Order: sequence, then structure tokens, then C-alpha cells
Amino acid sequence: MKIRVTVWGENVHEHKNERVKSVYPRGMHAHIAEALTKDGDITARTATLDQPEHGLTDAVLAETDVLTWWGHAAHGKVEDAIVDKVQARVLQGMGLIVLHSGHFSKIFKRMLGTSCALTWREQGEKERLWVCNPGHPIAKGIPPSFVIPHEEMYGEPFGIPDGEVVFLSWFEGGEAFRSGVCFNRGAGKIFYFRPGHETYPTYHQAEVQKVLVNAVKWAMPMGQKWENPSAAPKVVPSLETIRTEDPAHGQSAGGTGLK
Ligand code: ZN
Repeated sequence: MKIRVTVWGENVHEHKNERVKSVYPRGMHAHIAEALTKDGDITARTATLDQPEHGLTDAVLAETDVLTWWGHAAHGKVEDAIVDKVQARVLQGMGLIVLHSGHFSKIFKRMLGTSCALTWREQGEKERLWVCNPGHPIAKGIPPSFVIPHEEMYGEPFGIPDGEVVFLSWFEGGEAFRSGVCFNRGAGKIFYFRPGHETYPTYHQAEVQKVLVNAVKWAMPMGQKWENPSAAPKVVPSLETIRTEDPAHGQSAGGTGLK
């Protein structure tokens, strides 16, 4: 069975900026979905901000193994109720891949609980990404470093909690940035990947597409389902007989030990 990906795109710049339209004529979301489906193990659909429920209905989310998220100009227009539902699905085990300016999306900030702020400069400078974790599945088949000729710069400090760093970027202007970072939340895996400013053909680049495919395969749910991860605390009966001689904790008898 193929990995079911939903590629979410804000789809705003594509309609307002001629340069973006020329780089991604059918929208960044459609381009990313097509790039992913070139891999035989992946099937991808798209969802956009302007659709009912932003294209993320209960049915779509239930059929999504991994959700990718690109947003920039309209983070505030994403309904909190949809963010709630996506968060719940991630905790249950759905993978989430947050791209570029998605660092400031409601869902990324919700999942990480930190500012997710960073420094930036938009001059189309060279970016070199270094693999700092060559054994990681997301780095599979990626050279020790690769260059994106023109990109927006993102710099540290990056307001994220500690995560597993797979890629580190160097920029022509001198900055360094944690550009590929993994997190676990509930049963779900989250990967942030920095490149992808809308005016440059970054998602046309083979190495970038390979990272996205690897990230989907890494983030797909593989462990046990966790149907109701927020329903805690739960009192459960003990499976073993609990014996204690501490009077403060009652008689030696079976039970939960909870009062
Ligand atoms: Zn950007």
C-alpha cells in the first residue's frame, strides 16, 4: 500500500506574484505533489487554504499518512478548529513536514510550543546545505553537501526546542541555520525543512525533491496507533498483583494504588 500524502499549500503568492506564477504555474502544492508521486511508494493529493475547511476535512485527514505544509502570507487565516484537528492527527501518528516559511504557521508553533522565530534576508544568495547526520533516513542518497544557487536566508537564533538536526545550512552572507530538524510529538513525527522561498525554483531541484521523499518515508506512521493521546490521566486496573508494606499506600492487595 502506498504512503498517502496530502500536500497543503497556502496558494496565495501564486495568484499575486508573476514570478511565482512563472516558477510554479500550477501552484507550489501541485508541483510538490507531482515531485513526490514520481516515487513509486507515494501517492499525493493537494489541499489549499481557499477550499472548505482548507481542504482538510475529517475524511481527508483520516486518509492522510503524512501532511506537508507550506504557508507564508496567510498564516492568520488558517482556522483554529482546523489546527486543532491537524494537531490531534499528528498526536495519533500522522507525519507532518513543515516547509520553509511554514516555520511561522499556527500548526508548527502549536506542535513545538515555542516562538519559531528566526532572522532572515531576501537577496537571493547562495545556500549550501550540509548533512550533519549521514546515518539518518532523511539523508539517504544525499551528498555530504549540496548548493541551492539562489535562496532567501534564514539565520539563527531559531526559536525551536531541541530536535534531531539532519541538515545545517550555510549562507553566502555568513549565517548558519538548522535547516532540517526532526521532532516527535505523541505518536507523530515532525520534520522541518528550510528551503523553499516561493520566487526561486527550489522545489525543482533534485536533491530537494529527494529530501522530501525521504522525509515522507521517515514520517509515515509505523508504530502502534494511539487513538486518544489527549485522554489523560486515565486510571487503569493493574495487570499484576501489587504488594506493598507501606501503610500509607494501603494493604497488600491487588489494585491500582491510586486514590
Ligand atoms: Zn520565503
